[in-house]
Amino acid sequence: MRIFGGVYGGAVHRGDHPVEVINPADGAVLATVDGVSAAQAEAAISSARAAFPAWAALPDEERQRLMLQCADIIEQHAEELATLLTQEQGKPLNGLGSRFELSMAATWTRNAANLSLPVDIIQSDDEAHVAVHRMPLGVVAAIVPWNWPLLIAIWQVMPAIRAGNTVVLKPSPFTPLSTLRLVELLQDALPAGVLNAVVGDEAVGPMLTAHPDVAKVSFTGSSATGRRIMASAASTLKRLTLELGGNDAGIVLPDCDPDEIAEALFWSAFINNGQTCVALKRLYVHDDIYDGVCNALLAYARTVKVGDGRDESSQLGPIQNRLQYEKVSRLVERARADGARILCGGEPSEEDGYFYPVTLIADVTDGTPIVDEEQFGPALPIIRYSDVNDAIRRANATEVGLGGSIWSKDIAKARSLATRLECGTAWVNKHGPIRPDTPFGGIKASGFGVQFGPLGLDEFVSLHVVHD
Ligand code: NAD
Repeated sequence: MRIFGGVYGGAVHRGDHPVEVINPADGAVLATVDGVSAAQAEAAISSARAAFPAWAALPDEERQRLMLQCADIIEQHAEELATLLTQEQGKPLNGLGSRFELSMAATWTRNAANLSLPVDIIQSDDEAHVAVHRMPLGVVAAIVPWNWPLLIAIWQVMPAIRAGNTVVLKPSPFTPLSTLRLVELLQDALPAGVLNAVVGDEAVGPMLTAHPDVAKVSFTGSSATGRRIMASAASTLKRLTLELGGNDAGIVLPDCDPDEIAEALFWSAFINNGQTCVALKRLYVHDDIYDGVCNALLAYARTVKVGDGRDESSQLGPIQNRLQYEKVSRLVERARADGARILCGGEPSEEDGYFYPVTLIADVTDGTPIVDEEQFGPALPIIRYSDVNDAIRRANATEVGLGGSIWSKDIAKARSLATRLECGTAWVNKHGPIRPDTPFGGIKASGFGVQFGPLGLDEFVSLHVVHD
């Protein structure tokens, strides 16, 4: 399969920088993207810039109407897009996989469309009239990772265009196919130049983040890349929203029933094979129920089917790419060498593709790389604690702060402990659910700024005061 590498000015464009896309289920080349040149990326920015004044000037209701059409298009093409997504990303079609990602993409698009852009009146009387308007910024560069590629693209693009900005979207070179196709399809609803996408060589991302005609960068990805982007955007003082890596801890209190929480704990950690920013990545369990939780998780893990995502019965697919597969293998090997007990998994599959079994690791503690680093894969370290204050201290002893959770039958106590977790979102008796009406973002090295709802929309406007 050959596919265009750019959509800009309302049309698709082929470049001559080939980008090979691998199917992680067999390790073979799935498609070659005809990636764009630097001059073509420049043309994409120009087309976004040219489209900006008319898009920003459209009546609010008209932008909303066109965005609702986008949601319809996503739904009409959901099966085609889900199939492409499974082939390039590896996630199953079923369960919390590609079809789920597409349905969330339509939901979030509608939600962004229905947000309002209020004018705040600070004072209005004989003395003064002071109004705060929300104005669009201009061209937004949206840069996206490979784990939830379509949904994260929607999270960035839709509030940006809702506020009246235009966008140049850069998908990950690991998973560009479904996004390029989606952007092509959305040209039927949106005026030319409002939403553009480019895939090319490694120079394209840095070019977007340094370009003087880009007003804002909305980035989701690793903390290391986030630091580079912040440095690159400094000379033109761009606005930034950075949604970066995490190493979320979950703390299970001794009053929990292991059998009751095993399934929820499992999917908190293994959703999308652990390749989720807010997956539970370190599980702290009280001494009194440590063995019970390990056994209940193990019993549940044995029921989960890992296989090719196109097989309707698969619940988890392969790891998305070889680098990540090697990282997970290395972290598990190191834990084993350090004396950890591998309850299940721990051996890379002999099959083609990047299959790695569900892996539970017991008798492991802080200071081991699989606890201290973001594994971003299907391997969960289970750590023993005896004092909850100590568990909270250990949960917080990391440079990142995206999510966290407390598990207990005592909801009041759990809520109170949750406020002590240093992170953007702390859950009680669950881990990971996000909502389109609730701000989501990280603290510390997990980034800054929020997505979703009115506060997320405000990331894409400047405040303009009219005072008379
Ligand atoms: P990554 O940082 O390697 O890449 C993300 C994107 O940035 C890709 O499109 C990549 O091509 C681009 N990029 C790389 N270098 C760049 C540069 N110098 N300038 C501009 N763009 C550049 O991340 P990844 O491996 O694709 O994704 C995994 C990471 O993303 C994990 O750390 C995960 O926790 C994080 N993540 C965070 C959230 C969140 O909401 N906080 C959500 C999903 C994933």
